[in-house]
Amino acid sequence: MAGIKSVARKDGDDYRISGQKMWITNSLQADWMCMLVNTGEGPVHKNKSLIMVPMRDGPNGQLTKGIEIAGKIKKIGMNASDTGLIYFDEVRVPQRYLIGQEGAGFVYQMQQFQEERLWGAASSIVAFDNAIEWTVEWAQQRKMFGATLADQQWVQFKLAEVKTEVECLRSLIYQACEKYVAGQDVLEMASMAKLKAGRLGRLVPDTCMQFWGGMGYTWENKVARMYRDSRLAGIAGGADEVMLGIIAKTMGIAKRPAR
Ligand SMILES: Cc1cc2nc3c(=O)[nH]c(=O)nc-3n(C[C@H](O)[C@H](O)[C@H](O)COP(=O)(O)OP(=O)(O)OC[C@H]3O[C@@H](n4cnc5c(N)ncnc54)[C@H](O)[C@@H]3O)c2cc1C
Repeated sequence: MAGIKSVARKDGDDYRISGQKMWITNSLQADWMCMLVNTGEGPVHKNKSLIMVPMRDGPNGQLTKGIEIAGKIKKIGMNASDTGLIYFDEVRVPQRYLIGQEGAGFVYQMQQFQEERLWGAASSIVAFDNAIEWTVEWAQQRKMFGATLADQQWVQFKLAEVKTEVECLRSLIYQACEKYVAGQDVLEMASMAKLKAGRLGRLVPDTCMQFWGGMGYTWENKVARMYRDSRLAGIAGGADEVMLGIIAKTMGIAKRPAR
């Protein structure tokens, strides 16, 4: 985030924005974008601002002059939302669309990440609960050699194990949310929750999918969809390694980079 290149230069009452944004969720249909851009020189954490950019103007919803949507990115999952690459070429935006203070965008974005990462972790919980519940139901129905799949102790133990992991994540999220609502800094806990949700995003669907056998390897299967969709959790919104870096910094064992 500190290395973004897009710039907004003042021109009369407007900003003129140039640059590009890759991986923008819902950008093919969005009317507005909340954009972090460089609005000045100087240290990277003090030269950025958040600006509301109207993606469309005109009566027929044409793209704002200077905005080009280069295309929809073909992803392996998360196909219920589109993801785009967008170019900005001298896009004029009124300066009153600045959010808060100019130059404070980096700090705002870091604060927003705490909420986004908590939300990301919290929203994964229902998906994990569902995957486990569906798999229990399936295992109880699937008959083999005079018993059901659920009668196998290995299956019981594996499902008990992932359920326990999910409950640990749920507790962490509740604890972090309580602190966040009380106005406390939850950088470390939100990062831990995001990291754990990313890890469980691999473990839970993978464990569950195994017990669906061939049915689990079909496109229509709900657990298979989760297997594809939830892989994103360890990458987007800050990859697992970025979360580990933040936690290591809050623990005082990693140095903050000089800016
Ligand atoms: C489907 C999708 C939707 C997205 N939506 C949005 C959006 O709406 N808005 C938005 O701004 N962004 C969005 N993103 C971008 C997303 O936040 C980035 O893809 C993510 O932060 C990883 O950055 P990157 O792709 O540049 O990977 P890179 O920075 O190139 O990292 C590649 C890999 O390197 C490793 N790595 C990275 N940093 C470190 C480190 N410090 N130490 C060790 N290893 C490291 C990680 O394993 C990482 O996955 C979206 C991405 C996807 C795939």
